[in-house]
Amino acid sequence: MPRFDLHVHSTFSDGLFTPAQLAVMARQAGLAGLALTDHDTVEGVEAMQEAGAREGLRIIPGVEISADFEPGTLHMVGLGVDIHHPGLCERLAFLQRARAERNPRIASQLRAAGLDISWEEVRAESQGGQVGRPHFAAVLIRKGHATGIDDAFERWLGKGQPGYVEKDKLSPEESVSMIRQAGGLAALAHPVQLGISGPELEALVARLKLAGLQAIEAFHSDHGPAEEAQYQALAARHGLLISGGSDFHGFADKPVRLGQPSLDEAGLKALLGAC
Ligand code: AMP
Ligand code: ZN
Ligand code: FE
Ligand code: FE
Repeated sequence: MPRFDLHVHSTFSDGLFTPAQLAVMARQAGLAGLALTDHDTVEGVEAMQEAGAREGLRIIPGVEISADFEPGTLHMVGLGVDIHHPGLCERLAFLQRARAERNPRIASQLRAAGLDISWEEVRAESQGGQVGRPHFAAVLIRKGHATGIDDAFERWLGKGQPGYVEKDKLSPEESVSMIRQAGGLAALAHPVQLGISGPELEALVARLKLAGLQAIEAFHSDHGPAEEAQYQALAARHGLLISGGSDFHGFADKPVRLGQPSLDEAGLKALLGAC
């Protein structure tokens, strides 16, 4: 039965592998296809489609949007988006400007906290792609300021830590609508990272459904069997589809593997039929 990983990052955002490398790895992992879902950019999608064609993979154009939310993290995955849609491109340009403003400030704050780190060396870490906090983490680890990527976020880069800088984000509703307008399917990514449960989570999902949400990513590398069951039930209660993917970045000190978890062909058809 063909399987698809619908949440993958490349060097065009904070992943460590190029689309060409991902395509080879996906074929070797036995996948039939994947969705490239880089943070706030679709720049890698064409390269992913070319590499996917060489390896006989089905490539779904995607994106992952970071939305404004407390207490945890709210990411919206868009699947099957038209990467040339003017509205989508305009909103992505806004999000990229917000990153460009934030990133040098993270470096300044880390220096103010006494660390030896420059914006230039972080930018060099990104291999020409868009810079995200994992690139800061890589420099912090190399210089001995953190023991691993989780430690770098816990001590320096996460909310409330010395290197944390807020950036302008879209509201969750705007994230859904920009994906829908570009012809994509809007899926709430890794709900475990929202940091809410019970009635609060029900209310959020009801609110997002009104805004056009179509799916919940019940299968994700951060979810164990209990979360998978919980989020599948949540989706069913709200009449939403199920999405799934690894959120593979290729980080050396994380156990995440490309294609684990993944979705079968019937699951993919249900999703793409809806967008
Ligand atoms: P940014 O989008 O630049 O703010 O960076 C956030 C990204 O960093 C997330 O989307 C994850 O891909 C990654 N991230 C956040 N927290 C962690 C963590 N504890 N360990 C590894 N990666 C993380
Ligand atoms: Zn990431
Ligand atoms: Fe995410
Ligand atoms: Fe992701």
